[in-house]
Amino acid sequence: EMIWKQANFDRLTGLPNRNMFHDRLAQELKKSDRSNLPLALLLIDLDEFKEVNDTLGHDIGDRLLQQAGHRITACVRESDTVARLGGDEFIIILPDIHEKSKVDDIAGQIINTLTEEYSIGNEVIHTSGSIGITLYPGDADDIDSLIKNADQAMYAAKKKGRNCFSYFTQSLQDAAQKRLRLTNDLRSALPGKQFELHYQPIVDLNTDRIHKAEALLRWQHPLRGTVPPLEFIPLAENTSLIHPIGDWVFKHSVGQARDWCSGYNDSFQITVNISPMQFKLETRLFTKKWQKCLQDRGLSGQNIIVEITEGLLLNADDDVVDKLLWLRDTGIQVAIDDFGTGYSSLSYLRKFDIDYLKIDKSFVHNLETDRNNVVLSEAIIMMAHKLGLKVIAEGVETEHQKHMLIDAGCDYAQGYLFSRPIPADEFETLLKRQRPDSHGRIDVKQPGQN
Ligand code: C2E
Ligand code: MG
Ligand code: MG
Repeated sequence: EMIWKQANFDRLTGLPNRNMFHDRLAQELKKSDRSNLPLALLLIDLDEFKEVNDTLGHDIGDRLLQQAGHRITACVRESDTVARLGGDEFIIILPDIHEKSKVDDIAGQIINTLTEEYSIGNEVIHTSGSIGITLYPGDADDIDSLIKNADQAMYAAKKKGRNCFSYFTQSLQDAAQKRLRLTNDLRSALPGKQFELHYQPIVDLNTDRIHKAEALLRWQHPLRGTVPPLEFIPLAENTSLIHPIGDWVFKHSVGQARDWCSGYNDSFQITVNISPMQFKLETRLFTKKWQKCLQDRGLSGQNIIVEITEGLLLNADDDVVDKLLWLRDTGIQVAIDDFGTGYSSLSYLRKFDIDYLKIDKSFVHNLETDRNNVVLSEAIIMMAHKLGLKVIAEGVETEHQKHMLIDAGCDYAQGYLFSRPIPADEFETLLKRQRPDSHGRIDVKQPGQN
C-alpha cells in the first residue's frame, strides 16, 4: 500500500500526482463520452512562487504549496480531481459540466482564494495564481493535447498580467504553431546571414554628446521581413540557439567597438544585451570564449558594457557570481536593464558591483503625467549615485522628458529624441557629425528616424 501511495500521490501535499492524474483523466474522458457531458481541465500555476522559494527558503515554499493545495481543493466538489503536477503547478479535472458559467465560477473562486494572504511561520506572503482552461471534447480529444492546450491557455493568462484565468482558443493554437515555425526558421538565421546589429546612441547629458551605443539585434526573415527581438529572443532562449546568437552579437559588438574606439574616441563603449540563459553556461567556457573574442580583436574590456536584468541577480548562484567577478576583472562594466519593472532592489546593486542602472522606458514615458514617477526617479538616481552607479534613462522621446531627467541628476539618456537604433554606417555619420567643430550638438532628426 505504501508503494502504491508513493507511486500515485504527491508526498508534500497528499494530492494525486501526475501518474494518478493521467489515470483519472483517462477514466473521466470515457465517462464523458458515455454521458455526453463535457469536462474541463484547469491548469493552475502560482505566480512568482520561485521568488518566494528563493528568498524565503524551501521550507516556507513547501508550506505555501501545501496551503495552496488545501485552498484549491476547498473550491471544488469531492468528485472532482485536484492533482499536483510538480513544482507550483496544480491541475483540476471538472467532469459533468452542464454549463460553462460553472467553470468560470470555480476558476474565479480559486483566483480569489489564492490571492488571500498566507501566514507561514513569521512571514506574511502574498501570491496569486494564473489558470488555463481547456474543454473536452470541444478543444481536443486526447490527454496530451488537452494538457498542451491548458498550458497554452495558462501562459495566455500569465501574459494578460497574471492573477486571472484564460480559456484555450484556436488563436492560441495558431500562435503556438507560428512560434514553432519561427523557431525552425531561426535555426537558419545565422548560417543564412539574416542577422544585423543596429546601434542606438547613448548621450551624455552633461555634454550632449554620444558616448556609448546599445547594440540591438535585428532579424531579416526572408519571407516575414523584420522580426522584432521581443518576438524571437524568447524563442532562441527556449532552444539553445541563444548561445550561438549571443556569441555572434558579442563578437560583432566587440569588432564595432574597436573600430569606433580607434576612429573616434578611445573611451567609446558599446553595451550588449545578455540573456540570463547565456549566464547559465559553464563559467570556464563562458570566460574563455569572451576573453578570446576581446583578444582577437585587440579590444580592452573597458569598451564593453553588458546589460543584464535584475532577475539574474535575484537568483544568482555561485556560477553567476563567478561570471560577474570575471567581467569586473576584465574591465567590462555591467548595467541593469529595464530597472523599475521588476524587483528594483537596490541592495543587489551594491552586492554585485554594478556600474549602471537603466531606468525603464515605461518610467520615463510617465514622467510628464505622473508626479510620483518624478519623485521616484529622483530617488532612484540619488541612491544610485550614493552607491557609486551612473544612471541611463531609456526611451527618452521629448525635450521635456530630457530636461526633467537632467533636473533629476540623470547621467545619460537614450531614446528616439536622439535617434532610433540605426545601422552601423548611419551611426558613423552621427559620430562624424558631432566632431568639435559642429558645436557638439546632436540634431533631433536623424537619418533612421521615421
Ligand atoms: P532593451 O534592451 O530594453 O532595449 C531597448 C528597446 O527600446 C529597444 O527595442 C529600442 O528600440 C527601444 N527604444 C529605444 N528608444 C526608444 C524610445 O524612445 N521609445 C520607445 N518606445 N522605445 C525605444 P528593441 O530593439 O525592439 O529590443 C527589444 C528588446 O529585445 C531589448 O530591450 C532587449 O531586451 C532585447 N534584445 C535586443 N537585442 C538583443 C540581443 O542582442 N540579445 C539579447 N539577449 N536581447 C536583445
Ligand atoms: Mg538593453
Ligand atoms: Mg531596457
